[in-house]
Amino acid sequence: MDVITKEVKSNGQLIRIHGFQTGRLAIKQSAMHSKKTGVWPTLKSFRDKTFADWLPVWCWAIEHPEGVFLIDTGLSSVVNQKHYFRKIDIISRYYFEKQMKFDIAQADEIDQQLKKVKLDSKAVSKVILTHLHIDHVGGLPYFTNVPVLVNEREWQSKDGAFPGLFPDKFTPEIVTLSEQFQVFQKAHYITQRRDLLMVETTGHTTGHTSVILKVDEGLLFFAGDLAYTQSRLQQQQFSTTIKSHKQSIITCQKVKEMAQKEKVIFLPSHDHQSGNRLANLTSL
Ligand SMILES: [Zn+2]
Repeated sequence: MDVITKEVKSNGQLIRIHGFQTGRLAIKQSAMHSKKTGVWPTLKSFRDKTFADWLPVWCWAIEHPEGVFLIDTGLSSVVNQKHYFRKIDIISRYYFEKQMKFDIAQADEIDQQLKKVKLDSKAVSKVILTHLHIDHVGGLPYFTNVPVLVNEREWQSKDGAFPGLFPDKFTPEIVTLSEQFQVFQKAHYITQRRDLLMVETTGHTTGHTSVILKVDEGLLFFAGDLAYTQSRLQQQQFSTTIKSHKQSIITCQKVKEMAQKEKVIFLPSHDHQSGNRLANLTSL
């Protein structure tokens, strides 16, 4: 799969950003397009026989003067192993095996994708996770000697996460988001020059986090699963499995409010247009 690379500037210094598609996934049509969220709409979607369209799974690498930062690690082809989900409880196993579809080859995993831009897993200084769902943590085994930043609230709640599927001895660097950034009450600056930061964007999971890179061209907003796509952000539409519908709406409104004052380039993990939006720096 193609890699999208874009060069931007931060205080005049060059920053290179790469977008990688690490496979794709699909959920049931009614889980994707339900007006309501929560347990009952999710159970109802189990009866639906049709899957919604495939969604890409994006990860992002930022070549920054202070190091290489990787946002999420994508899917792993281990999901193709016949009994892979036997490690978890039977209901969750049923969900992954029957209610979701994955399409990922080993060649599309994050370690291979990094090589396409002359990086490798050893070149990565820090991994930043937006949340702990399997399509975001799949590549973690390639980064066992790299600090992996996780929002404290996400680590404590582990909403929809399966620690049984994490790599052995997984010990992330737990981050307390104790600063503020514009509309976001919880933020944490990652770089010395304070141009790369995590902000809490609760809703999809309790401790869901987005990553913002401030560049001369605007704010690059790596949105994780805050909304699956930009049009779903605008319509405030969510999949049935989110943690909080109310919080998701508040978070969407914050992003839109921010976009009224600044140029925001919105880059969700599952939007077909995220790559083009990065390449053209198309704002919200
Ligand atoms: Zn996801």
